[in-house]
Amino acid sequence: MLRLLVEPGSLRAGSREVSGDDHHYLFRVRRLAAGDRLILFDGDGAEADAEVTSAGPRAGRLEVAPPRVVAAAAPRLTVLLSIIKGERMDWCLAKLVELGVGRIVPLAAERSVVRLEPGRAERRLERYRAQVRAAAQQSRCALVPHVEPVAGLEAALAEVAGAGLKLHLWEDPRAIPLRSALPEHAPATIAVLVGPEGGLTAAEVELATAAGFVAVSLGRRILRAETAAVASAAILAYALNDI
Ligand code: SAM
Repeated sequence: MLRLLVEPGSLRAGSREVSGDDHHYLFRVRRLAAGDRLILFDGDGAEADAEVTSAGPRAGRLEVAPPRVVAAAAPRLTVLLSIIKGERMDWCLAKLVELGVGRIVPLAAERSVVRLEPGRAERRLERYRAQVRAAAQQSRCALVPHVEPVAGLEAALAEVAGAGLKLHLWEDPRAIPLRSALPEHAPATIAVLVGPEGGLTAAEVELATAAGFVAVSLGRRILRAETAAVASAAILAYALNDI
């Protein structure tokens, strides 16, 4: 059944007008007509059945049934993602959503090339959240992954202090193979730390280790940060039996 992501808090029973991008998507791309049914979801734990009652050239109308709550499972996989330059960050965020990552903490690491002053950090956060919502719509996620405010390493580590397994992706030969860090029975929650283009500093590696992160390798080759993030998300989704 076709699903449409709507603004959080806007889901209520009754008649609802559809215009703009949503109108284009439903009536031009998916060619819905009166009588067709779909599901609206707000990505925040609520969804509702809806039926098309009219489909005009610029706007349409839906009759929306009373919303129901979707069980909000705790995010199983959280990625502490060092901010990557430009569109590579957008690409990486979209892939992490498709692979089922439940929470993303954009990390301002020492060697992050992108430096974000406070005002800019907020604007950047809005962009990341819009990317994640678009990817959630496209990949039909029931819940839109949370993107936390941009954080420094200490604050980011504190965000996942309670995770059942904490993995630091480290390109250094001292890291152990990821495979050998995975327990037989997958823990309920996993946190993954991905360093910036320049890698984490020795002090940051120490901080992560002191916070219980196990340094793991994805092989001998040096991967780009976005490749390492996406590869680890796919491997862990498999380990968590999500794929
Ligand atoms: N500056 C580092 C260097 O030149 O040796 C490379 C950093 S790499 C481009 C960016 C991030 O991707 C790293 O901080 C690490 O988190 C991750 N990464 C890259 N290759 C990896 C590997 N083979 N195993 C584990 N993590 C890796």
